Amino acid sequence: MSRIRVAIQKSGRLSDKSLSLLQRCGLEFARSKDKLFWYGQDFPVDLLLVRDDDIPRMLLDGVCELGIVGQNIAEEVMLERNGGSGLQELRKLRFGGCRLSLAVPEDSSASSAADLNGARIATSYPALTTHLLSEQGVSAKIVELAGSVEIAPGLGTADAIADLVSTGTTLRANHLRELEVIYRSTAALYTGGQLSADKQALLDRLLLRLDGVLHAEASKYVMLHAPREAVQTITELLPGAEEPTLLTLDGNQEKVALHAVCRETLFWEHLEALKAAGASAILVMPVEKMLA
Ligand code: ATP
Ligand code: ZN
Repeated sequence: MSRIRVAIQKSGRLSDKSLSLLQRCGLEFARSKDKLFWYGQDFPVDLLLVRDDDIPRMLLDGVCELGIVGQNIAEEVMLERNGGSGLQELRKLRFGGCRLSLAVPEDSSASSAADLNGARIATSYPALTTHLLSEQGVSAKIVELAGSVEIAPGLGTADAIADLVSTGTTLRANHLRELEVIYRSTAALYTGGQLSADKQALLDRLLLRLDGVLHAEASKYVMLHAPREAVQTITELLPGAEEPTLLTLDGNQEKVALHAVCRETLFWEHLEALKAAGASAILVMPVEKMLA
């Protein structure tokens, strides 16, 4: 019987969340402490633990069928190797969010990307940065660095940087000012090419589970008591809810119990609005798995 391999980051920002996502899809692995290969038990999907930068190439070379990696890295490798193609993004994932931003020294007079025409820009994403800047008609001299990009302006080796940012703390610590966001990235699940029929069938089973997990993550099960005359209003206030279940309350004619699955994020503001519309005893619960 055939098996498929998923490559995930061995240790870094995406590691724990990638592994936990696969585990929530019901995959279990026989762990080996130092080895890069974990054998899948019960379900024929094995794990490869590697550096994130290697994942797109492994997919393109057919070393593995699936990989979880940041869109930034997938785009970079595709632009560098295939003129922007070769990998297929199967699902965007809800972690690993960051932005690729241009940043300049605090005292720089630059106010937009256009002001960086002809400037030296340090980055670990040369192909992606060149591509994004050229879309804006900006041509820059790329200084490629594998890491510590943020110190390049201070060292005088670059005038600006294009680097990944999530909070901006690193930029501030290095006296840099974020000039412009040029790309937004999240982690995503990729495949490298055409699969044989039996591997595709396996992938389809895995994707069905993954969709169940991803939909469940975004969903909440809400239970509340609603005045009969407010049921319509209250249902409309529930984000992404369809056809709630109504149950009678023993000994209470005025109110009913209303249960619904909300498929969109439920904020405190929603709960406040529900209360203002007459809802009481509001209970919000996580949804673990969901199959339509
Ligand atoms: P490896 O040793 O596997 O090469 P790395 O140091 O290149 O690891 P990490 O810093 O763990 O990689 O980042 C992995 C991915 O996490 C990035 O490619 C990006 O998609 C995402 N990410 C999210 N937030 C940030 C951030 N603030 N800085 C850098 N990457 C981020
Ligand atoms: Zn890396």
